[in-house]
Amino acid sequence: MKRRQFIEMCGVAAVAGVPALSLADDKKRSRSSSTPSSGVPGNTGANGRVVVIGGGMGGATVAKFLRLWGGQGVQVTLVERSSFYISSIMSNLVLNQQRTIEELYFGYDALKANYGIAVENDSVVDIDPTGRKVWLAGGKVLDFDRLVVAPGIDFDMLPGLDAGDYDTLFPHAWKGGAQTTLLGQQIRAMQSGETFVMTIPKAPYRCPPGPYERACLVADWLKKNRPGARVVVLDANPGIMAEAHTFQNAFDVIHRGVIDYIPNAEIDHIDRANRMVYTTMGAWNGRVINPIPSQRAGSIAADTGLVNVNDRWAGVDVLSYQSTVAGAESVHIIGDASATTQPKAGHIANAEAKVCADAITRLFAGMSPDPSPVTNSACYSPITSNTASWLTAVFGYDPATQTMKVVPNASGEAAAPSKNNYEQMNKWFRSLMADTFV
Ligand SMILES: Cc1cc2nc3c(=O)[nH]c(=O)nc-3n(C[C@H](O)[C@H](O)[C@H](O)COP(=O)(O)OP(=O)(O)OC[C@H]3O[C@@H](n4cnc5c(N)ncnc54)[C@H](O)[C@@H]3O)c2cc1C
Repeated sequence: MKRRQFIEMCGVAAVAGVPALSLADDKKRSRSSSTPSSGVPGNTGANGRVVVIGGGMGGATVAKFLRLWGGQGVQVTLVERSSFYISSIMSNLVLNQQRTIEELYFGYDALKANYGIAVENDSVVDIDPTGRKVWLAGGKVLDFDRLVVAPGIDFDMLPGLDAGDYDTLFPHAWKGGAQTTLLGQQIRAMQSGETFVMTIPKAPYRCPPGPYERACLVADWLKKNRPGARVVVLDANPGIMAEAHTFQNAFDVIHRGVIDYIPNAEIDHIDRANRMVYTTMGAWNGRVINPIPSQRAGSIAADTGLVNVNDRWAGVDVLSYQSTVAGAESVHIIGDASATTQPKAGHIANAEAKVCADAITRLFAGMSPDPSPVTNSACYSPITSNTASWLTAVFGYDPATQTMKVVPNASGEAAAPSKNNYEQMNKWFRSLMADTFV
């Protein structure tokens, strides 16, 4: 597939080539912006108040596109507990020092300045879908006509570990942040001949290719810097969950002799004192242990009764992302927290957000949601420090099953990792983040 076709398929052609973003750039843009909300059209016929919970890949995008498409009549308040977002996408490159964690910071000043979005830096602690109110930890109460819940994921505790262990001893680093930095430090402290043990939870989990990408990058760094060190991948799934051919080849050929991949290895417990991981396929000792726990919708969804799929995820109607919980029709859930047939990934969270923004805008204007939405997902996976592969899929609404189904002949993956893919990965990331935060 040609690069141009691929970028168009990713739906980000309009912003391709936008320069790299960072928190510092965000502040500069905000200071130089003299016409707040200048990109927002006047009244489009859509009128209403929207509160968005979570300023990540899904939440920031839906806030922006509600204003961009809904116009001045749609008031948007984004509630985010952190003062800036740390991207998980590209965070595996912090482990081998190809990026700094600060390069993955994204602020909210551009969303405020460019689209007139009100941003509350606080945590949502409760929701009343029928009374249409949201309570913030700081005491504020916000009224809404429509609520979008985009809190990402939270984690189960693995037997033998508590929450503090992940922050200090065994970082999962499955959200970009301090644990990512700690895991990178632990890898660099390894000696030749030592072992890095990582565990992968049963699907569905955030970013299907992400753990295999991490195994490759750690192996690549260890073989160059700590000869004889090994990577053990303990996968609770029966096989590689994404780009199986690419990763199998990376394990068997590119990183041959460095990576041991063990499928069907479900964790029994972790013995933190002896640094042992016990699984259904045996036990392993690791100098560094990177246990990625099972995942569930961000806790605000469960705490407020929105979780109704496998006791983990929030069921939605994918025409509008409205909750399927009776009485919660005013609530929409997007991104990793929702239960759909689409992968849990940042690119698809951005696409779901646009379908949701479009549906809310139409509902505010007295219309029905688009009956045939299309979304797309894309993921680039670095395999070494200068090569990457990619995977993309297009999804269309299937009325028979009322789900999003992969569109035949519109999906694909890289034939092999390449340097060109690695360069395209950087462009794709800049475009996606600009489309989300600027
Ligand atoms: C190592 C790694 C690599 C990845 N690589 C890729 C990739 O190449 N491509 C790709 O598409 N995806 C990738 N992903 C996945 C991607 O990061 C997630 O799928 C995406 O971030 C999900 O978006 P979201 O909006 O659902 O959640 P998030 O982006 O996590 O945002 C959720 C936000 O909600 C906030 N929040 C939660 N609860 C509350 C509350 N009660 N009150 C206020 N705020 C709250 C959080 O602080 C957070 O900012 C990767 C993930 C990892 C871990």
